[in-house]
Amino acid sequence: MQDNYNREIKYLRISVTERCNLRCRYCMPLDGVCKKSHDEMLTYEEILRVSRVAAKLGVKKIRLTGGEPLIKKDIVSLASDIKKIEGIEELCITTNGILLNEYANDLKNAGVDRINISLDTLNAEKYKYITRIGEFKDAWAGIEKALKLGFKKIKINTVLIGGFNDDEVVDISSLTLKYHVDVRFIELMPMYDSGDFKENAFIKASIVIDKLKEKYGNNKITEINDIKHIGQVARLYKIDGALGFVGLISAVSNHFCKECNRIRLTSDGKLKPCLHSNEEISIKGLSEDEIEEKFKMAILHKPKQHDELSYTSRSHADRNMNQIGG
Ligand code: SAM
Ligand code: SF4
Repeated sequence: MQDNYNREIKYLRISVTERCNLRCRYCMPLDGVCKKSHDEMLTYEEILRVSRVAAKLGVKKIRLTGGEPLIKKDIVSLASDIKKIEGIEELCITTNGILLNEYANDLKNAGVDRINISLDTLNAEKYKYITRIGEFKDAWAGIEKALKLGFKKIKINTVLIGGFNDDEVVDISSLTLKYHVDVRFIELMPMYDSGDFKENAFIKASIVIDKLKEKYGNNKITEINDIKHIGQVARLYKIDGALGFVGLISAVSNHFCKECNRIRLTSDGKLKPCLHSNEEISIKGLSEDEIEEKFKMAILHKPKQHDELSYTSRSHADRNMNQIGG
């Protein structure tokens, strides 16, 4: 279905839980989330109901995210049931990778096509610092397992943080030389409470390409402009000889609202027309027909674009990222 700005809405991101087994400093507070009661959260059947409605209205791609989707106990059967819905062509998951070594096989068998794995550093001490409690080796084991199983696409998502990992962009990008992965650098977004990062932490993703050109030479870094890749939220580049792309997601310095084809569903049953707006449309407890009406409303309420984001001008989402799903 089209929104009011001729954007075809084809992509639904479902946050299946707010809870997480990590506590990334830019995403959620150390003391976790204030636990909502079980009754406030969507049931398994409700998630399927929304997915069916979405498919009926033209959604072709669903991503399961969170919080950490792999801590949800029925995630594998949920993935399998969503993949069986007529019209859903692609099922994707975004995970921190900590439990991926254990679940990757089952997810593959359930029909998951693509996996995005978050990894902000290659250094074990820095990994512990940024995630507050995580072990790099667990996330890396998850990545290796996923690579071994050969999903349609594996992407590594790195939040670019000035003073933390801007010195690692060449090393992280060089994973595309060795492995069949894309690496995407995401600008740090100033969410409701995205940690105590100072202004210098919010840097432009374009510095990645400056650093790659400095390392490899201008003529070894190619921007990808072919039709197949236009319309993606990431601007894609390739290091000569690499197996995958380096992507920049400039959510702050150069928003991609014109290409936005997505709707989000939170684990407490709110449809979000825009990541950075506080408008939410509740579908908790509704029948399939009622959800269809709300889903259409959410599509028609997608704003043309969100307000500018910066260190001083924060997202209006009124939620942390773990409560939206990224
Ligand atoms: N737990 C899973 C993970 O970390 O991949 C899925 C949920 S997480 C909220 C989804 C994505 O949002 C991750 O890639 C994470 O790095 C990103 N993210 C969280 N907070 C962010 C922020 N303030 N700015 C930019 N990206 C953020
Ligand atoms: Fe958890 Fe993902 Fe947020 Fe990190 S980014 S705290 S792994 S939800």
